[in-house]
Amino acid sequence: MARDHGERIGRTLGCRRCGRRRGMIRRHGLRLCRQCFREVGPEIGFKKMS
Ligand SMILES: [Zn+2]
Repeated sequence: MARDHGERIGRTLGCRRCGRRRGMIRRHGLRLCRQCFREVGPEIGFKKMS
């Protein structure tokens, strides 16, 4: 029972940046909340489309 490192992929626990689950964006496995998405979105290649 030592293989559980909490690195399960596929289940959203929260924003991987701030850990919040508020306003989560699960597109393309981003796992970021809206706030973090706005900050790191452009950096990782996601631009807000109007
Ligand atoms: Zn966040």
